[in-house]
Amino acid sequence: MKLKDNYQALWEKLPITITDDQFEKLEKLMDAVVEMNQKLNLTRITDYEDFAVRHLFDSLAVNMPAGELVLDVGTGGGFPGLPLAVCYPERRFTLLDATAKKIEAVKIIAEKASIHNVNFLIGRAEELSRNEQYRESYDIVVSRAVASYAVLSELCLPFVKRGGCFLAWKGPGGEEELADAGKATILLGGNQPEIKDKNVLKNRGVHVIIFCEKKRETPRKYPRPFGQIKKKPLN
Ligand code: SAH
Repeated sequence: MKLKDNYQALWEKLPITITDDQFEKLEKLMDAVVEMNQKLNLTRITDYEDFAVRHLFDSLAVNMPAGELVLDVGTGGGFPGLPLAVCYPERRFTLLDATAKKIEAVKIIAEKASIHNVNFLIGRAEELSRNEQYRESYDIVVSRAVASYAVLSELCLPFVKRGGCFLAWKGPGGEEELADAGKATILLGGNQPEIKDKNVLKNRGVHVIIFCEKKRETPRKYPRPFGQIKKKPLN
């Protein structure tokens, strides 16, 4: 197995152990994304090593807190949700995106890689979290490369159960964004966020993961319509 044999230096640093069966699924996942990408633009990254480093191992470089129900907001081609679903088979993952075509593609990718612990949601996060079926319903919400931290907090925190948490994968500017986000998470019912994991992407920059615990219910006035969220982020 190429992924297991050639990238030990990367996977041995991850906070989880990947079984052979999971390595196989990750390879199938990679093939399926690259194949779907020919029809639909899911990612710019298709070179094998780049894909392994920036999609697979980046998605997995997180100390996952406890919690069975996980939501991935703005999953795009399925990141970080699909690799996490492979490596945490006992949890249930919901992959959400505003673009129906992307979710249709991710469904096919999941099937091809035999990933069964996943559900799919098509729609805008700020609209779906107003629905009682989804609001305050997930133990963990994850999100990568979707919006600035203040905007993302308003898109994600309303979905998190009290006692659960929100994890945001961020580029090197993550620390600064966190400082700028000021009181956003507090207004939305979260605790003061902090950077928990730092992932060096093998000469391709650094990702940090910002961790925020949900303490109180999100006030009903949030999330606001997207135009307002964007124009006046909570900070
Ligand atoms: N998380 C993936 C994709 C990032 S691209 C990765 O890291 O590779 C951002 C994705 O977020 C796009 O697919 C876009 O459709 C989705 N998105 C942006 N704003 C959204 C919103 N308000 N609600 C739902 N999805 C959103």
